[in-house]
Amino acid sequence: MSAEVTSQVPRAIGLLRSDHPQSRTSVQCVSGLAPRYSSKIDGSCALTRVAPPVPIARHGHLAALKALRVSWPPETGVPSAIIDIGVNLTHRSFASDLPAVLSRARAAGVAHMVVTGTSLSGSTRAVELATAHPGLLSATAGVHPHDAKHWEGDAPARLAKLAERPQVLAIGECGLDFDRDFSPRPVQERCFAAQLELAAMTGLPVFLHERSAHARFVEILAEHRSRLCDAVVHCFTGTKAELHRYLDMDCHIGITGWICDERRGLHLRELVRSIPASRLMIETDAPFLAPRDIKPTPKRNEPALLAHVAAAVAKARGETVEALAASSTATACAFFGLKLAAG
Ligand SMILES: [Zn+2]
Repeated sequence: MSAEVTSQVPRAIGLLRSDHPQSRTSVQCVSGLAPRYSSKIDGSCALTRVAPPVPIARHGHLAALKALRVSWPPETGVPSAIIDIGVNLTHRSFASDLPAVLSRARAAGVAHMVVTGTSLSGSTRAVELATAHPGLLSATAGVHPHDAKHWEGDAPARLAKLAERPQVLAIGECGLDFDRDFSPRPVQERCFAAQLELAAMTGLPVFLHERSAHARFVEILAEHRSRLCDAVVHCFTGTKAELHRYLDMDCHIGITGWICDERRGLHLRELVRSIPASRLMIETDAPFLAPRDIKPTPKRNEPALLAHVAAAVAKARGETVEALAASSTATACAFFGLKLAAG
């Protein structure tokens, strides 16, 4: 299996070689470096950079110190490496069979997964998981609006401390959820604004959640946007006007298996066509949102089903799944400051 990499980034900085015993082709993954590169891996895993180069400064010095390693042994029939930018692997439903879940994900082409942190304790567990699976997993650190009611005392300081861990690639998930209202709205807003401030201070991108709160969400985000590097509205399910507002604010968009939901996600099949490839990333949000067009629909979603989401998004955009995989992977690398390289 051949591999070719070109990079304008000094490869000596933080690069670690894969030593995975089954690795036929390794993909090394280093965060915090400007992803000015192009890669070809065996012709079947071609990564083409679609986003403009990201200045190192945008990701800040903290991120620049972070190094990860991804080993990537694509198995027969896997067309392209894909990255699940949002997966809740600390959820109790994965407690008994996580190793099997991870190996199914790898077999399905998932080269890397970003484990979502939704509370202080959950973010700590996400970092622990990422530490236990270097290269395959990384983490976000944040407090979901559902959990904002616990944003008190030393919580901000503890989150800031956690964000220093090298496994943490983004602040979040954070935002507003006026659909469930599990935390009082003023508390959600304070918690959201504080995490945007933390992202600005650390230079890390933000992983955003918004449900039934678009107007207020945009107001708060707009107050901080110029000081943030990148921001992704994860699991976007909104309207055309909302999508374009986010794109106008230079946000990235995360698309989940919601697009496979014939009851409430069909509008996304039209909307994803207008998202530039350099802003579009894919995620499962597992164990939630199992694609409903899989029959019978699994009770639990898992990252291996990202390939199904990729196929659905590619079909809606009129692209091949290989093209969608390549562009969304390149976009995720640029967003999180990851660098894929074959070795
Ligand atoms: Zn969410």
